[in-house]
Amino acid sequence: MLLVTKGSIDDCNTRHAQGGIAAAIGVKDSPELHFKDTVSAGAGLCNEKAVRILTNEAPDRIADLVKFGVPFDTFNGEIALTREAAHSMPRILHAGGDATGAQIETTLSRQIRMAQIPVLEHCLATFIILENRRVCGLETFDTLTCGAQQFGCRHLILATGGAGQLFKFTTNPEVATGDGIALAYRAGADIVDMEFFQFHPTALHLPGVEPFLISEAVRGEGGILRNTRGEAFMKAYTPQAELAPRDVVARSIVSEMGKTGADHVYIDVTHQPASITAARFPQIYHYCLEHGLDMARDMIPVAPAAHYMIGGIRVSTWGESSLPGLFAAGEVACTGVHGANRLASNSLLEVLVFGKRIIERSLKGGSREGTDDWNGDMRSALKHEAGMSGAPSPGRAALQQLLWENASIVRDGKGLARSADILANWQSCLPQPGDRPSWELLNLIITGRLMTEAALMRLESRGAHYRTDYPKPDAAWHKHIVISSE
Ligand SMILES: Cc1cc2nc3c(=O)[nH]c(=O)nc-3n(C[C@H](O)[C@H](O)[C@H](O)COP(=O)(O)OP(=O)(O)OC[C@H]3O[C@@H](n4cnc5c(N)ncnc54)[C@H](O)[C@@H]3O)c2cc1C
Repeated sequence: MLLVTKGSIDDCNTRHAQGGIAAAIGVKDSPELHFKDTVSAGAGLCNEKAVRILTNEAPDRIADLVKFGVPFDTFNGEIALTREAAHSMPRILHAGGDATGAQIETTLSRQIRMAQIPVLEHCLATFIILENRRVCGLETFDTLTCGAQQFGCRHLILATGGAGQLFKFTTNPEVATGDGIALAYRAGADIVDMEFFQFHPTALHLPGVEPFLISEAVRGEGGILRNTRGEAFMKAYTPQAELAPRDVVARSIVSEMGKTGADHVYIDVTHQPASITAARFPQIYHYCLEHGLDMARDMIPVAPAAHYMIGGIRVSTWGESSLPGLFAAGEVACTGVHGANRLASNSLLEVLVFGKRIIERSLKGGSREGTDDWNGDMRSALKHEAGMSGAPSPGRAALQQLLWENASIVRDGKGLARSADILANWQSCLPQPGDRPSWELLNLIITGRLMTEAALMRLESRGAHYRTDYPKPDAAWHKHIVISSE
């Protein structure tokens, strides 16, 4: 076994996860209730077979984490559980208050070191090597020496994370550039549900400061959203108010920003004792303090930001892609558990549940189950635009601006078509990548093309995909868009 990663081992989305991880371990909770909440958030497109597995296997995967040493927060000697938007029960486990991802990542990295699994850092995967359409190796680029290397393998597991860097405003770190999607697409794997990109409603919005996530749990524990006139507005949009699903809250905030002409709203926890806020959300509390805001006294300016890539490499419930030998886990994969809209705190869980299943399956030699039809598919081929024309290529900032303006929370056909054309043109202008930024730019352009093309095809609004020219869900679109390069 060999693990390669393009930066240092702890440079990833996981490290930034705050709120927690969902599992039905509470006395009044059950996998059935967790299943129902997940399917209800997914707006008709969940792969229910995968959701069953996710919710049934969750308690065992939490037990694994406890065994590995993840220090989940406790209350009266029991694991503490909090509630988040669209969960009907308190079922979110957290560690270090709001440092859940960092605690999980540090614990698992320690386990990797203890098991003496070889890790190659600064090693960026660039090509999947195929023989008779079966994966047999991986080509990589050493970002320190700029040399290429090839590794042979029987099974390749992509766990390359998301693509928040597609957008100008994102909660994702710099590494989230859609590399795994682009790698798999170029190798001919099926990519699915790319039109669904989740925007987090509340990222800190301060001039010159990277959007920093103000966790869902802040609303879950009583935070109130107010417009710049100080008015609480969520009840005017939905009876669930602050606890509505993310897409509803994000669009309500955009609408409210439009009404007031401001580029942000506020989240208000000033009614809660400072000691409770500081203890429950230490990272957020201190980050805000460092930027001159005391959550106990000040309302915190927030705006939506790109957060989670729902679509990805289409995989079976054993993590197998449509290419023999290629597996995918985590944010780069699409098991279908999130449908058209991810329920908060289900993504760390998805990594664990399906990651474990991949190991089980690959140890058994990787017999194939196939990526069965979930709710009916619509297939489309997207030509891979070979680059190398040598014309000047755009930078990451231009791409992020383009997609933020035309393909983010509120979309329409005109903006999407324009973006798709520009991206195809940019791709055809790209020179052969020769360093990490240019590989990442190529991967962002390919991932952006897959997202905009899928969003153009879906002539309705559903879950995280909202189009002003087709503002309602349409039963005819109760299906998945699958794209491949072949
Ligand atoms: C701010 C924030 C808060 C979040 N909060 C929560 C939460 O509370 N609960 C929850 O469930 N989810 C949360 N999420 C989402 C969740 O953290 C991610 O979906 C999950 O951690 C993804 O894990 P992953 O293993 O798929 O990817 P990552 O953790 O991002 O790991 C991907 C790794 O692949 C490497 N890589 C990428 N491309 C290449 C390449 N070409 N070659 C080699 N290596 C490569 C990267 O360097 C990185 O190390 C949050 C996300 C963010 C950004």
